Amino acid sequence: MPTNLMRRRLLAVAAGTATLPLARWAAAAGTQLTLQPLGDGLALVTGAGGPVVVADSGSELLLVDGGLAANAAELAGLLTRQFPGRRVGTLINTHWHWDRTGANELFAGQGARLVAHENTRLWLGAEINCAWEPRVYPPRPAKAQPTQTFFYGTKTLPFAGQQVEYGYLPQAHTDGDLYVYFPRQNVLVAGDVATGRSYPILDYSTNGWAGGMVTGLKSLMARCDVHTRIVGSGAALLGKTDLVAQQDMVFAVLTRIGQSYYKGETWEQFLASAPTQEFDAAFGDPARFLRTAYEGAWGHVNEIRRVTR
Ligand SMILES: [Zn+2]
Repeated sequence: MPTNLMRRRLLAVAAGTATLPLARWAAAAGTQLTLQPLGDGLALVTGAGGPVVVADSGSELLLVDGGLAANAAELAGLLTRQFPGRRVGTLINTHWHWDRTGANELFAGQGARLVAHENTRLWLGAEINCAWEPRVYPPRPAKAQPTQTFFYGTKTLPFAGQQVEYGYLPQAHTDGDLYVYFPRQNVLVAGDVATGRSYPILDYSTNGWAGGMVTGLKSLMARCDVHTRIVGSGAALLGKTDLVAQQDMVFAVLTRIGQSYYKGETWEQFLASAPTQEFDAAFGDPARFLRTAYEGAWGHVNEIRRVTR
């Protein structure tokens, strides 16, 4: 998009005269699901609204995220066909967003335990006013709420002969993000903290912000080598270099947001400085990222200069 057109569009969004794209949770019932083997009992299912990682022990399945509720029955059917005789014993949620937790009711109803960060459990039990969409999310039924939560640090979960690791990524995309690492397959599931070559969302309504994302990406990098396959927000597998590129971009834009705050600029003046100009060719439309990054950083104005890569 030409820069001038982009600026006009961003200004229109700022003025409330344009609508933000609604592609975030666009998948719907009837979507064709695709299963991609990742080797050694691990697979990636795409097309469910958000990526779903399936681990198979031979007798039981462990899922990381479950896609949208509208696709849950189709996902369950696919798993029954692909992994006959197994039941979903564990479903880990990388965060509360409904494209990740939509299948919670279905699999919990079949006996799965739901594992998540404690903040994800709290959000799923509350009405959420997501100001940047804008949309109000009602509380989910008790059945959808995680039954095994943690507060900080990393945990391990024995599954299929290995210790699956999961850990907290504080205040990044939301305040309940976690990653899941499968050491034997060297696969890292990063939720919506890692977006590859598209701009991330900082869901400030549930305490995500750009500084937390920079730190979260650093934590993810520490668990990677050059061979690690990373499942992020989209269908394409990512590598460590994608995390580095995303962190460089988020850090640069956060620095510019801080400089703009400290100068006392308005939002319009900040936009006029084209703060993502050199990144747009690689990451696409910056509108939603910039707005959520800018709003979310206000609550952390004294911390911006302390964020390090
Ligand atoms: Zn999300």
